[in-house]
Amino acid sequence: MNLLALTLASFFAVTTAPTTAIKVDQVGYLPAAPKVAMVVASKSPAANFTVRRTKGDSVAFRGKLSDPVDDPDSGDVVRAADFTKLSERGRFYLEVPGVGRSWDFDIAPDVYARTYYLAMRAFYGQRCGTAIDLGAEFPGYKHAACHTLGAFHPSSGKSGPHVSARGWHDAGDYGRYIVNSGISTGTLLWTWELFGSRIKEIGLNIPESGNGTPDILNEIRWNLDWMLTLQDEDGGVWQKQASEQFAKFVMPEDDHSVSYVIGTGKEPYKSSGATADFATVAAIAARVFRPYDEAYAQKCLRAAQSAWTWLDRYPDVLFRNPPGVRTGEYADPNCGDERLWAAAELWRTTKDEAYERYFLKHFGEYLGAINPSAPPTWNNVAPLALWTYVLGRGTNQEAVAAIRRESLRAADAIVQRAARNPYRITLTTQDYVWGSNGVAANYGLQLLVANAFQPEPRYVQTALENLHYLLGRNTFSLSWVTRVGEHPFRHPHHRPSGTDANPEPYPGLLSGGPNQRRQDPAMRKLPKLPPAKMYLDETASYATNEVAINWNAPLVFILTGALPEK
Ligand SMILES: [Zn+2]
Repeated sequence: MNLLALTLASFFAVTTAPTTAIKVDQVGYLPAAPKVAMVVASKSPAANFTVRRTKGDSVAFRGKLSDPVDDPDSGDVVRAADFTKLSERGRFYLEVPGVGRSWDFDIAPDVYARTYYLAMRAFYGQRCGTAIDLGAEFPGYKHAACHTLGAFHPSSGKSGPHVSARGWHDAGDYGRYIVNSGISTGTLLWTWELFGSRIKEIGLNIPESGNGTPDILNEIRWNLDWMLTLQDEDGGVWQKQASEQFAKFVMPEDDHSVSYVIGTGKEPYKSSGATADFATVAAIAARVFRPYDEAYAQKCLRAAQSAWTWLDRYPDVLFRNPPGVRTGEYADPNCGDERLWAAAELWRTTKDEAYERYFLKHFGEYLGAINPSAPPTWNNVAPLALWTYVLGRGTNQEAVAAIRRESLRAADAIVQRAARNPYRITLTTQDYVWGSNGVAANYGLQLLVANAFQPEPRYVQTALENLHYLLGRNTFSLSWVTRVGEHPFRHPHHRPSGTDANPEPYPGLLSGGPNQRRQDPAMRKLPKLPPAKMYLDETASYATNEVAINWNAPLVFILTGALPEK
């Protein structure tokens, strides 16, 4: 290269703005893991690419692009840039002659630590019933105490005031719903149980920090405390505590509506899905909190057991919003899987044979729920029920063997599907639904649980491929976690972000992501596009760009699974 060419090359490298045509995980990659970027260019790019050090633009790696592959889900023609062999620590970007340069990314063993911190701390930002303040790190991100006025709704079977304290705002709205709290809190408790040593020392800079309990548990307890207030004296649990209508787009403290305890409208008023989900997380909490607060652990266990007793009497009470109520419904036509998960967690905590008998009597009905195209979700918790029996060292060898077999078979199929996908992700065409990014994260959870059954590098690697997708290696080159990466989405359907004076949204929130069904008015302007392209970074698009605790929770799970082992 002559001097002029060298000068031009470095000028090009320094001054060119990043292009969406080159898709990288904008957070980065683990040194020993596969590292692939995607290149989507309308005209044929050069055959080669380079990875350069951000500081000084020197070349760290040279490679060849793969042949182009059609991706029907996005409509993209995708070339892969594989730089797995680059294991040097540092900050880099990718350059493709004739195409441009990527956003920066890091290669480091703890590359996801900051993203974990933001994604987990996002739950603090969702706290209800208290003032929150993200502090000097995010000045101006704060609100006063909210939704402290609580009362029984006529549908609850009771009347008068009822405490409204603690809990997390569910999503972009201010409701608190037991069913969605169930899987979200359960997923976070599992994060602790599977990977606790990796995050035990990571402070979240929350009011409880330094109290001797790990901060992830401090944050989880905020929501557990609210869930405990929705249990009636007979053990049953009401579906939700929320206003009758969704609040306008206002800050939480400016929503003065009453937070009603809402029930089914007729005897027994509580619902089986909510009661079972409550029993599940209270049972997990009973074993998780034992080393830190024995009295609290006992309280959670008693609550879980009385909820289970209520379910004996009322196994199938379904919930639909009563007349005049339009907030989140989380209606599930089948509570059998919720009861199975409750039995499994109660057994795992107590080793009481009664719970195991229930589990062993029913688990076979749900084995098919462990499959390669349906990771767990709020209305499908059967996989979690089955997995906890194995994770808790179930003694029935036949059951353990069947659950392990189905789990590994599904994980193998997911891995093989991702290997064929031009973006290397596990999503099927059908998975581009409301909350598809949550589906991607829950596939990651499914793979990491399989890895816990039988360590297999491909399971972990494929979970990481989905993480790369969420952090920028997608058709939009967008990081779908607010304030993470150099090119994140900016307009979540999230009331505090959409209302306050700050130009940027609250940090650490995962977008719902592409949704092939036009399920909100903002989506009407979208032409018919491939499913992975059906997305709007607009506050109004709640069907593609809302945030939710049950999507952030599996994001936290896979981020934690990618942190260094300790
Ligand atoms: Zn609130």
